[in-house]
Amino acid sequence: MSLLIPRDSRVRSRIAIVRVDLHINRSFHYLVPEELREQVMAGTRVQISFGRRKVLGTVLEVSETLDGLEVAADALKPILEVVGASGLITPAVLQLAKWMADYYLCPLDLALKSVAPAVVQKKGKMRAVRSRRDPELEMAVTEASTLTSSEPPPLMAQQEAVLSRMFEWLDADSSQEKKPVLLHGITGSGKTEVYLQVIARALEQGKGAIMLVPEISLTPQTVERLRARFAPLDKPEPNAGTGSKPEGGILAVLHSGLSQGERFREWQRIREGKARLVVGARSAIFAPVMNLGVIVVDEEHEHSYKQEEHPRYHARDVAVMRGHFEKALVILGSATPALESYHNAIKGKYHLCRMPERVDGRHLPKIRIIDMRQETLRQKGFAIFSEPLKSGIQLRLERGEQVILYLNRRGYSSSMLCPKCGFVATCPHCSVSLSYHRQAGTLQCHFCGYAAKAFNVCPQAECRDPSIRFAGMGTEKLEEAVSRAFPTARVARMDSDTMTRRDAYERTLLRFRMGKIDILLGTQMIAKGLDFPRVTLVGIVFADLGLHFPDFRSGERTFQQIVQVAGRAGRGDVEGEVVVQTFTPQHPVMKHIRKQDYEGFYQEEIGFRSALQYPPCCRITKIECASEQSSRAQYVIQQLHKLLLQRLGPSIRVLGPSPSPIEKVRGRYRHHLILWDTRKKEHRGILQEIFASLPRDGEVKVFPDVDPIQML
Ligand SMILES: [Zn+2]
Ligand SMILES: [Zn+2]
Repeated sequence: MSLLIPRDSRVRSRIAIVRVDLHINRSFHYLVPEELREQVMAGTRVQISFGRRKVLGTVLEVSETLDGLEVAADALKPILEVVGASGLITPAVLQLAKWMADYYLCPLDLALKSVAPAVVQKKGKMRAVRSRRDPELEMAVTEASTLTSSEPPPLMAQQEAVLSRMFEWLDADSSQEKKPVLLHGITGSGKTEVYLQVIARALEQGKGAIMLVPEISLTPQTVERLRARFAPLDKPEPNAGTGSKPEGGILAVLHSGLSQGERFREWQRIREGKARLVVGARSAIFAPVMNLGVIVVDEEHEHSYKQEEHPRYHARDVAVMRGHFEKALVILGSATPALESYHNAIKGKYHLCRMPERVDGRHLPKIRIIDMRQETLRQKGFAIFSEPLKSGIQLRLERGEQVILYLNRRGYSSSMLCPKCGFVATCPHCSVSLSYHRQAGTLQCHFCGYAAKAFNVCPQAECRDPSIRFAGMGTEKLEEAVSRAFPTARVARMDSDTMTRRDAYERTLLRFRMGKIDILLGTQMIAKGLDFPRVTLVGIVFADLGLHFPDFRSGERTFQQIVQVAGRAGRGDVEGEVVVQTFTPQHPVMKHIRKQDYEGFYQEEIGFRSALQYPPCCRITKIECASEQSSRAQYVIQQLHKLLLQRLGPSIRVLGPSPSPIEKVRGRYRHHLILWDTRKKEHRGILQEIFASLPRDGEVKVFPDVDPIQML
């Protein structure tokens, strides 16, 4: 048997390079049988024999020659079968997976796993099981959608100006790469309308569009507007078959409530070009949209775009890369852009479009910063409501207007402690204190979900003191305080304890919209993109939460959260007011919050970042080791540290190794180190080599986190 056959051999064989689903950092060659020729292409999932096993894999490339030589076909094993519908990982998405493996320092098979939902990768036919819908909810949603117009509203001058630039970029030569756009528009400036019109134009041109939102379930109003606008384009398929109701249309909404079968079917509809507009959270960026015209990343500053499992990719950055590969226009939009994005815009890497005014000449709400130290003196003790907030709420109740109160901590109190012996209830699996949930009568860990019965007396055997106390306030306690201070008000609480059912959120929002709730209080669930014209007062109950974490982004995060929640006020005809209660009114962030001055905040913050060499002024990579034994995690990170210094040279800047600020999470101890300037090509090559050589199934897990968000 000869391995070489003449080039002019009449029977040309096709060879596929396949990455198998095993922890092997290599690809293998397989023969494409004649009958599978049409189906096997880059991105196709296949079954192959590997040793004595049958395994699944992803085709990376199909070619007729192998390194310039023709390989005798009979020397290769054939592909056994194509799995699932072919082409659900498009060539462009495959390219994206390769980029992710390279950039985020992860093995290619892991990157491939994140670009397609599990159901697309598996064998066997999926049954399309419909998820059941609640008739009452259906009614509520129908009712809500009648409030949403399908007609585009008249545009303001600032929207027209931005749109004309965006249309020009969208229409430009499709063989040319398009620079991403940062749309910095204040809250209520009409960004969504801009997205809708750019998307509509791309669809008219026969192109596809992807719109990312931070969380589908928390952005019902945005999704509803898309439905209302693009539903008229929905046409029943002409050959819908026998009796089955035609479904779908041009819009595919990828949400977590889809059953496996539904998800699979949505992917097929997208791949076939029946659905050309895809809306979804993070992973929707990998949807198999063909001929992609535009990608919109709404609320691009949101941290939920970052995946916190390996590969720790950031969907905003992946979106920018996908736009680069497919020459699509990428629009990043926010009222409070991430410093990284604004920095890119200032440097000219992105176009910058501004919308500094609210629609219909409405004003931004007035923000008052209240010094709670003074209030504590005045009210002779800790008070939940300052005088201005209390009288503000009273006034709104009298006028029949609505109030939003924001407190980003759930539960009743954040810790349970014994004043006699100093005992603090902590999680057995994490190094954090347990929060008390009064309604449930439990102590809960907000990191791992551990729950135990709350104590009546101190649990320490030698103490047993009954005066055990709760410290720190959560939304449950706030709700109690609101009901006591305003007994006639109709109050609703929105956090992950009260919103356990999928429809609870939509239902509460609907009641709020219909004026059946006076005061809505909650965690960040109420901070995102809600638009209720009758809300005229927003109270930030404790603005300092999160401001003093050992994380270089804590100021940025506080600024973003407060400005976003503040933006819920005054979206109707009556001007809005925001009361921010803080114990550190002198903090520089508070000054910019008061003026809602993003530009000023950016200038000051970028000064800090530059001085400390933190992103966006510098690129960093965090490397984390986790083990059930602290000493083992510590040992591995120290060895890794030595190896990194050896290989990368003394010029590389390293912080640590040290225990992570919250050392133990879910029973695993974490140690980390931070590397600077890891984007340099020679550095990345070495890091890839090191990570490829690490065993993946050891007890001590090692994760690289490129451009980390989570610093705790
Ligand atoms: Zn005690
Ligand atoms: Zn825990």
